[in-house]
Amino acid sequence: DFILVTGASGYIASHAAKEFLKEGYKVRGTVRSEEKGKYLKDLFAKDGLNDFEYAIVKDIVEDGAFDEAVNGVDAVAHLASPFYTSGVKDPQELIGPALKGTTGILNSVQKNNPKVKRVVITSSVAAVMSVRSRKAPVVYTEDDWNVDSIKHVEENGVNSDGGDSYRASKTLAEKALWKFVEDNKPNWDGVAINPPLVLGEVIHQVEDPSKLNTSVALFYDWAAGKKTDKDLPGGGGNWVNVKDVALAHVKALTVPEAGGNRFIVGAGPFACQDYCDILHKRFPELKNIPVGKPGTHDEICKDANVFDGTKATKVLGFQYETLEDTVVEMTESLRKRFGNF
Ligand code: NDP
Repeated sequence: DFILVTGASGYIASHAAKEFLKEGYKVRGTVRSEEKGKYLKDLFAKDGLNDFEYAIVKDIVEDGAFDEAVNGVDAVAHLASPFYTSGVKDPQELIGPALKGTTGILNSVQKNNPKVKRVVITSSVAAVMSVRSRKAPVVYTEDDWNVDSIKHVEENGVNSDGGDSYRASKTLAEKALWKFVEDNKPNWDGVAINPPLVLGEVIHQVEDPSKLNTSVALFYDWAAGKKTDKDLPGGGGNWVNVKDVALAHVKALTVPEAGGNRFIVGAGPFACQDYCDILHKRFPELKNIPVGKPGTHDEICKDANVFDGTKATKVLGFQYETLEDTVVEMTESLRKRFGNF
């Protein structure tokens, strides 16, 4: 089968494309430039994965942006969407591409490719959690929807919180998927993948650390010695390994029962103290890693929200990697890329 992966030059999407190739699928990735496409083709070829081609889609908000890219494929994995929460001047910077990217690809499939059997959209726990109206600790499942952020953005406009702007963008985009399915009863069925913070090996093109994607950038400062004990225990959150997220996209397109479902793909809570403990244990030569209170994960995370990722393990059938392995893979790939820090 032939899979279209949008935003293939991104952190998660580059892994998703690789995972599809490893499973024997042919992949077309959309990228914004020739250079990014060539980088990926070379990257995959080094692992003997040659069934990759790219298509240029400069801006997913343009009308008909995906009209050509969808031709001939059997399934679509849509990952392109802006992810940042600081320096947001207007929530529409995020909402525009998130929403139009989603409706755009669905319309292009509808119009140009009746062969498509399934579409998986990368949503987020941002579309699941209601952090303004529900006090932690909450155990969130796929039954939960973010009921706060769209309202917040409607009420606050350009003065909206950056986090809510991003969370509103993901909520609106996922809702658009389910509404499209309901309204159009298409030939294909939809799946949403809802990860928390995605961590692990970096394989996509990144010129320098300032260009890292949001989730890895947050980690980089810890490993590169830019944090101090004052920053600990460090905002907890839930996390998942990027390869598990990539594999979830593959399974979402291949497991028949997955159709029509959303899946939280999350391995549980962590705190930045955990980063430090692992860095001390596995990379003792690194400088300026805060010490904090080693081994206090349970205490720090006892009142954390939990995004329950068990449905994904049962239906999609995979196991989550450990945080230790994930941090080691991420650190090694960053050191390889940017030199020893
Ligand atoms: P990246 O920033 O690495 O990837 C985003 C991709 O989308 C890039 O390829 C980017 O292209 C592309 N893109 C963004 N805006 C446009 C646009 N207007 N036109 C064309 N392409 C565009 O982020 P991630 O890999 O982390 O995110 C991928 C998906 O996963 C997103 O949907 C995100 O919301 C979701 N997600 C991420 C999580 C995380 O922790 N990383 C957690 C939960 C969900 P370019 O690189 O050329 O700018």
